Amino acid sequence: MQSSMSGYHSYLSYLSRCRLLFLLFMTAFLGLLSSVQAQSFQDWVGAFWPVAQREGIRPAVYKAAFKGMTPDPTVLEKIDHQPEFVKPFWSYLERATSEERMTRGQIQMRQWGGWLDQIARQYGVDPTILVAIWGMESFYGSALEDPKLIKNVLRSLASLAYDGGRYKKYARTQLIAALKIVQEEGSTPSALTGSWAGAMGHTQFIPTTYAQYAVDFDGDGRRDLWNSVPDALASAAHYLQKSGWRSGQSWGYEVILPRNFDYGLADHGQKMTLAEWQKRGVQRVRRQSFPRPTDQASLFLPAGAGGPAFLLLPNFRVLKRYNNADAYALAIGHLADRLRGGQAFVASWPLDNRPLSPSEAQLLQEYLAQKGYEIGHIDGKIGPRTRSAVRAYQQQRGLVPDGYPGIKLLEKVASQE
Ligand code: CA
Repeated sequence: MQSSMSGYHSYLSYLSRCRLLFLLFMTAFLGLLSSVQAQSFQDWVGAFWPVAQREGIRPAVYKAAFKGMTPDPTVLEKIDHQPEFVKPFWSYLERATSEERMTRGQIQMRQWGGWLDQIARQYGVDPTILVAIWGMESFYGSALEDPKLIKNVLRSLASLAYDGGRYKKYARTQLIAALKIVQEEGSTPSALTGSWAGAMGHTQFIPTTYAQYAVDFDGDGRRDLWNSVPDALASAAHYLQKSGWRSGQSWGYEVILPRNFDYGLADHGQKMTLAEWQKRGVQRVRRQSFPRPTDQASLFLPAGAGGPAFLLLPNFRVLKRYNNADAYALAIGHLADRLRGGQAFVASWPLDNRPLSPSEAQLLQEYLAQKGYEIGHIDGKIGPRTRSAVRAYQQQRGLVPDGYPGIKLLEKVASQE
């Protein structure tokens, strides 16, 4: 009994030794793993140095910028976030011209009126456009006080350059530009704050845009997009001016189309003068006239025949230089019009006919291809070929051939299998 007890005890101690060894092994293994990870970011910082050096960054600046830095996991989370649900144009527009954004915009127009007039004189960009950009980019600066949104730009960009997948190339270029800002403007690295993708200050300039277009407008000797509203607004005006903004001209007009309109004219950004569009029966809403009938314009139907229609002028493309999305440019243009006292759109949005998600778009392409329509590559992206296939389908079924692939069309195509 005694011996079997001691055998049992030695068995127990054997077990606990195994467990201890296992724990020691795991601790060492995990420690090794995390040091490998930490090491590889440090390695990356080391490997990136020659790139920065070639760009003229001084060793002390580089060292100070990366001191104690680790990758920011919250930034890396963002890159995998690809929303499957496509937000309809109208919900974006509605948010852009919310009561609060308009009211606060009007307050800013009054508060900064003197500066805005000076900026408009110098750069030829209307104050309402600048305030609309400010309102959309940072909600008139209030986003800069939100700790959930505001990050260290050098850390965000280094994280993306280190492990940011398709953002790596973008982030390397921006990181160099950000280091140059620190070096040339004498900013402390932590003063460079911005969004997870590196957009900075009241008007959300990425570092390369900052480098090229930011200006010191209040005359204190510094370009400061974080703390100087005149600097931020003037920088936005300067950027638009250099991107080809046409002074005194609008971004476009809401219009009404005639019956039996040829919707193919909305494709491919076909341009005609406003007078030529008028000859085809296209009228500005509320019986207003076009102030400059010889301007070139293209037709834009963001939600098909069932929603508002617009004739877009060259300034619309300039707004897209700021942010390459139609919804963004239309939101800026419309918010600016509203701040100037303009009215809401005449046409209402087809709330029951939302746009398709990529997988729904792919489904639509598959259905149409099965029915013999020329689709090209089935990829869930709505391009000109899908639009003309949609239009051909609509024509054959006696529908309005606007080429808009909304949920109603998908339901119709699916039900007629
Ligand atoms: Ca300044």
